[in-house]
Amino acid sequence: MASCHQIFHPRHPIYYLTQCNPLPQHTSHRHGEVLAIRDAAQKIGHPHLTGCVVYTSSEPCPMCMAACYWARIEKVFYATTIHDVKEHGRFEDEDFYAEFLKPAAERHIPSAEYMREEALKVWIEFGKMADKCHY
Ligand SMILES: [Zn+2]
Repeated sequence: MASCHQIFHPRHPIYYLTQCNPLPQHTSHRHGEVLAIRDAAQKIGHPHLTGCVVYTSSEPCPMCMAACYWARIEKVFYATTIHDVKEHGRFEDEDFYAEFLKPAAERHIPSAEYMREEALKVWIEFGKMADKCHY
């Protein structure tokens, strides 16, 4: 299954086009939006793509939408919806969005805290660092 993903940057004459096809590399998370964002960020030299717009053939899955948030994408345009791809392609994007609305312990893949007190000390130290890097 191939789909198209493009990123337009407002200040640079940059045009990124990728195609989503996770199967040849047996990598379930090799989605076009993630690849396009990674490529654009490397070419621009910054993890934030502020002002950029994504055009994609289908509404982004939760992973790709999260990548858009991390990259500070300004807006996403999509042709087909997550409902369309479920109905016609049996993709589970719509189910995953619903899954993330549930409490962590009630999801299909449950998750739970462990070693919070120990790990929290690292975050407290990070919060005190003057030169901490935010991305
Ligand atoms: Zn995706």
